[in-house]
Amino acid sequence: MAWSNGPQGSRLAPLPANWPQLRTACFERDGYRCTWYEEGRGRCTTRADECDHWRGRGDHRLVSLRSICHFHHARQTAQQAAAGRTSMKRPDERHPSGPSGAIEVAPYKVMGLPPHMQ
Ligand SMILES: [Zn+2]
Repeated sequence: MAWSNGPQGSRLAPLPANWPQLRTACFERDGYRCTWYEEGRGRCTTRADECDHWRGRGDHRLVSLRSICHFHHARQTAQQAAAGRTSMKRPDERHPSGPSGAIEVAPYKVMGLPPHMQ
């Protein structure tokens, strides 16, 4: 039974049996070109050699796949990892009735320095 736990069994989201067909259909739809689009630079012109699950790793529908080059796939994975790290940041919460709102900047700029500082 040790043979049943190969590397395939450790995948978080196993690929479906028709994955090769889905992958080919995705490439054909996108013209075998990377679909990465960058503001101001346009679409990537590199030949696509990977299929990206842009809606999540468990969604294998054709509409949820896009062709992407190796470079941009790695870049997106890095961006997603970075986004996951920063999403835990707490929003800046401030109690509306707290006393901190009453503190203002010292009015020296308007009134000039006090006599003992001139
Ligand atoms: Zn690309």
